[in-house]
Amino acid sequence: MHIHELPLFTKYNNKLVHGFSLKTGGVSQGCYASLNMGLHVGDTAAKVITNRQLFCNALNINFENVVCCEQIHKDNIYTVTAADKGKGAHELSTAIKNTDGLITNEKNIPLMLFFADCTPILIYDTVNEAIGLAHAGWRGTIADIAGKTLQAMQAQYNTKPEECIAGIGPCIGQCCYEIGDDVRTQFTAVFSQIKKTTNAVDKILTYRNTAYLSLYDANKILLIEHGILPENISPEKEYCTSCHCTEFYSYRAAAGKTGRHAALLCLK
Ligand SMILES: [Zn+2]
Repeated sequence: MHIHELPLFTKYNNKLVHGFSLKTGGVSQGCYASLNMGLHVGDTAAKVITNRQLFCNALNINFENVVCCEQIHKDNIYTVTAADKGKGAHELSTAIKNTDGLITNEKNIPLMLFFADCTPILIYDTVNEAIGLAHAGWRGTIADIAGKTLQAMQAQYNTKPEECIAGIGPCIGQCCYEIGDDVRTQFTAVFSQIKKTTNAVDKILTYRNTAYLSLYDANKILLIEHGILPENISPEKEYCTSCHCTEFYSYRAAAGKTGRHAALLCLK
């Protein structure tokens, strides 16, 4: 099975496991073919569980310990401990409620979130050995879930931003993400307040008749604003799920009904 990785994170392969599932190598059929990892999109649950097990096996991860959250496009962060092992792995009903970001400093608890165009945010505190994984669609991005995940790690684990590496997973790119006036106005308001990046609004928005948004650049700018060093953010350029919709699930490219790929992060 092929696993998508982030260059900077592979340098810490002795400390942590990370990876993104692709669409291929699973048992789902039709619009979910074939490695759909999402239980909430109408696919047969047993097939999704099989897919999740296949992905975990490929990463040498214990699927029974996987922790998932509901992902409701808000900015709540939850601190995962050993008591949470397995929550949301087999069924939606046990997933951590009302949450889009998970943090932990415990080993062998894989955090797993699901995506089809939204942005996976990964943070690894290389000194205190803690991790954070968050789901940032446009609502989560504008609510600064990237920064709030980092702040939660600062509060819980004494994390220092300059000692972290951050990852921005495959998400819909500026090439393909047309947005309406309402979203554009909200992003302009928030990103005109950015201090550490000059002309932040111009960096996240381009115009071709209408506005196009870069979720990658928006989240990168937010991570930098919170103290992550630019050279510690991976990859260097956005990787568009819609342009690469044979590799990744893309809600926009599929015009709605489709599967979800997973982002996984786990301390060894
Ligand atoms: Zn694209």
